[in-house]
Amino acid sequence: MRRRKFLKKSGLSTAGLLSAPVLASCNTKSNATVAQTTSSSTKPIVICTWNFMNASAKAWEVLENEGSALDAVETGVKVEEADINNQTVGIGGRPDREGRVTLDACIMDKDANCGAVLCMENIAHPISVARKVMEETPHVMLAGLGAELFAYEQGFEKTNLLTEQSKKEWEEWKKTSKYETIINIENHDTIGMLAIDANGDIAGGCTTSGMGYKMAGRVGDSPIIGAGLFVDNEIGGATATGVGEEVVRTVGSFLIVELMRQGKSPQEACEEGVKRIMKKNEGRKDFQIGFIAVNKKGETGGYCVHPGFTYREYSENGHENKAVESFYQGG
Ligand code: ASP
Repeated sequence: MRRRKFLKKSGLSTAGLLSAPVLASCNTKSNATVAQTTSSSTKPIVICTWNFMNASAKAWEVLENEGSALDAVETGVKVEEADINNQTVGIGGRPDREGRVTLDACIMDKDANCGAVLCMENIAHPISVARKVMEETPHVMLAGLGAELFAYEQGFEKTNLLTEQSKKEWEEWKKTSKYETIINIENHDTIGMLAIDANGDIAGGCTTSGMGYKMAGRVGDSPIIGAGLFVDNEIGGATATGVGEEVVRTVGSFLIVELMRQGKSPQEACEEGVKRIMKKNEGRKDFQIGFIAVNKKGETGGYCVHPGFTYREYSENGHENKAVESFYQGG
């Protein structure tokens, strides 16, 4: 778009776009507004899990320049993959128990084409390798060494993903070797992103280093089409963050898209998705999951298990860090 038109309409300057309130830290509820389903005719929009402002801004840049939703999500999530200070995605991610950083990612386009890499080492941009799997192979998923070798074939460079910081923390962790997920200050914080472009087409991408100090070889929901991400261009898309094992058990993102197909709003569908998970986990409070969704009209919604999860939305109306309602109210 027509950046000028966008800026005029929203009354925001470029500087304003990137200024104070939106720089809230990833997991705080401060200056987040409670998500409401918003109605609009289909216009470009991007949403992502958590308050990944730079990633969503980058994706929005692609959309406003009339790029495809697919390019937008790939470009957007790459920002987090490249950020060494983000210890839950890409380079700098926390390693598994053996000290290896293994990455998971998947991508899905408007034609239900999809690609994924699982448990891949030494490559800084798993989302781009996932896209290559989608576009250059007859397969959907490549795992481990196979994914890594394919990446080299495609021209990706070998990169050491274990930063000094993550190594230091892992060495500290080894002293107790206690494996637990800490809600919202997680050793996990996937970026899942959904976008609609100027043609009204939807795409999604999801990328993570998975749970910190996971068992070697562990794969969560994030690279699993239907679990961590699902897009149906007729209906909408959904993506997840949180304890992947629980998302896989309900095929969470597919479920949410199917609920939207049955007439639920993105908000209602995300709520139902979390409730299904909690039904299988009655009384359990030791994990977080957050879902976000967008439908074909560009309406969005999100819901989570515990307070604290937010999602960032970018559209011609500006951008916002949206707090979502949760299954538990705290405590
Ligand atoms: N869903 C990711 C996984 O289970 C982690 C996360 O989103 O926090 O690997």
